[in-house]
Amino acid sequence: MKVIDIHTHPIFFGENAKPAETRKMIQREKKQGFVHVVALPDVLRYGRLPDEKQSRILNDEMISVVKIGQGFVTGFCGLNPKLGEKAVRTEVDRCVGEGTLRGLKLEVSCNALDPDMRWIMEAAEQYDVPILQHTWNQLYNSARSYHSDPEDTCALARKWPNVRIIMAHLTGCGIRGIRAARGIDNLVIDTSGGAPEAGLVETAVKELGDRRVVYGSDWPIRDLPTAVGRITGSAISSRAKQRILHDNAAEFLRL
Ligand SMILES: [Zn+2]
Repeated sequence: MKVIDIHTHPIFFGENAKPAETRKMIQREKKQGFVHVVALPDVLRYGRLPDEKQSRILNDEMISVVKIGQGFVTGFCGLNPKLGEKAVRTEVDRCVGEGTLRGLKLEVSCNALDPDMRWIMEAAEQYDVPILQHTWNQLYNSARSYHSDPEDTCALARKWPNVRIIMAHLTGCGIRGIRAARGIDNLVIDTSGGAPEAGLVETAVKELGDRRVVYGSDWPIRDLPTAVGRITGSAISSRAKQRILHDNAAEFLRL
């Protein structure tokens, strides 16, 4: 079965940054049957608030991964919204405006509803590129001021209906996150992160339909076969599996 992985970290805390190592990572993904992957920057290497210089280092690495991948990789540009409009615009123009990176990645610099997200959303709208927002249940967690709960990411998507948003981490979003995502056509949930939970993929398909769930692994933080098995082992139709593993991401990323 053909697979597109919408959530990978080829370089993680500085590991695999050498071109020879990156090539090895790509070979391994191809061996697994992957036909395309999204590469996300090493966003937490310098903590949750990288400065302008640190952001440039991480995004330059993504640009080189895209070049090594020769069409196999879509690279996303990591941004810290708290650096302000000028810094965000400069980095998006440099990385996305040149056409090398084709998406924006938001981690835990600020909550998805922070006013400083405006620069990010305007840039995404202008360049017509998707956003991947790290998301995890924050109901019992005091980090919500900078860590997005599924309710926050879904509210962001409703506020900006012309921007395509990937809400990361199905396990972290849970059933409450799936329900929050109902009726938001510009938002998909990726299945990356956390251990598979019985019934969760099935619930996502039942509540959202089979077009708004996309396969992701979070590799190498998570195990690739387990991430794929979460989809292949779920009690959904083979058509839905094909949609989640490949077709939805191909449409969403406009490959
Ligand atoms: Zn991730």
